[in-house]
Amino acid sequence: MTAAVEARARAEFDVEIRQQTSPLNADERQRALRDFDIVLPTLGDQFDAGSFAAVPQPRCRLLANFGVGFNHIDVAAARRAGIVVSNTPGAVTDATADIALTLMLMTARRAGEGERLVRSGEWQGWHPTQMLGTHLTGKHVGIVGFGRIGEAIARRCHFGFGMSVSYLARSDKSPGFPVSRAESLTALAAQVDVLVLAVPGGAETRHLISAEVLAAMRPHALLINISRGEVVDEAALIAALQAGALGGAGLDVYEFEPEVPEALRQMEQVTLLPHLGTATEEVRSAMGHLALDNVAAFLAGRPLISPV
Ligand code: NAP
Repeated sequence: MTAAVEARARAEFDVEIRQQTSPLNADERQRALRDFDIVLPTLGDQFDAGSFAAVPQPRCRLLANFGVGFNHIDVAAARRAGIVVSNTPGAVTDATADIALTLMLMTARRAGEGERLVRSGEWQGWHPTQMLGTHLTGKHVGIVGFGRIGEAIARRCHFGFGMSVSYLARSDKSPGFPVSRAESLTALAAQVDVLVLAVPGGAETRHLISAEVLAAMRPHALLINISRGEVVDEAALIAALQAGALGGAGLDVYEFEPEVPEALRQMEQVTLLPHLGTATEEVRSAMGHLALDNVAAFLAGRPLISPV
């Protein structure tokens, strides 16, 4: 937690704050459910069905997740154990959309590669055909998942870069600027210059980006993933990039995070960030405060602010 959130938590609640940054192990998850009224878990803390089964009479009544994505929590199993779950939507939207645009620009304009060149001391100076990238302005972006973050990405693409926007979601969207809904994922993949992933993770979207979808993309097109690593079949992505089936990729998340395959790390056409989506002081504080607002509401017997 940021210092501001930690100070508030200590002032308002009887709190134990874990200092390690690694995910909770099985013993710690059991202790969390057994000994605490409320737990604030986050990404990586695998509260799967087995975690709840291991503690038949949990003291815990609320998992106030720090983060909008909750694919690490088996919400149905939590419910069966009498535990409700909240998350932190909204607080993360703009920062995560900004990271999507960062990845789009860095990948299209070869910014990572260029930075590595300058740092290597090997740069020979400007010339008319040095490191030519892809122009983003006016191009066609396809957004998979058009919720809070997907729409914020679309808004930046439309108003900032004059891009045309298509999307895939389960329902029709009217964001107040022109967008078109794609008929299918493969149709969307085949049309666009940049395909951006903004769906939640979990069983329903696992490997949504399959070898077939990657094969539909055009050879110059870019894949950007700020959602969850498991949404992409990473082995298929590596094969497609190696075969030149798409032009490049910008990734904030990985299928077996924090493991990033050597093959990806070796490719110049790939931008790799260490899950920076919400990583600003303001946003992490806003997320922490929203998690604590949920805790306060729960303890006061009021409805949760952002229930899952
Ligand atoms: P959201 O508002 O719930 O939006 C999710 C969108 O995905 C909705 O448009 C939904 O469609 C669509 N969707 C869900 N399942 C789908 C499916 N099977 N096929 C097609 N579309 C599907 O969530 P959000 O706040 O935008 O966040 C999205 C995800 O981003 C989070 O769950 C989290 O995993 C990830 N995230 C990553 C970072 C990071 O640090 N990189 C930061 C924040 C969030 P409908 O609208 O039609 O229901």
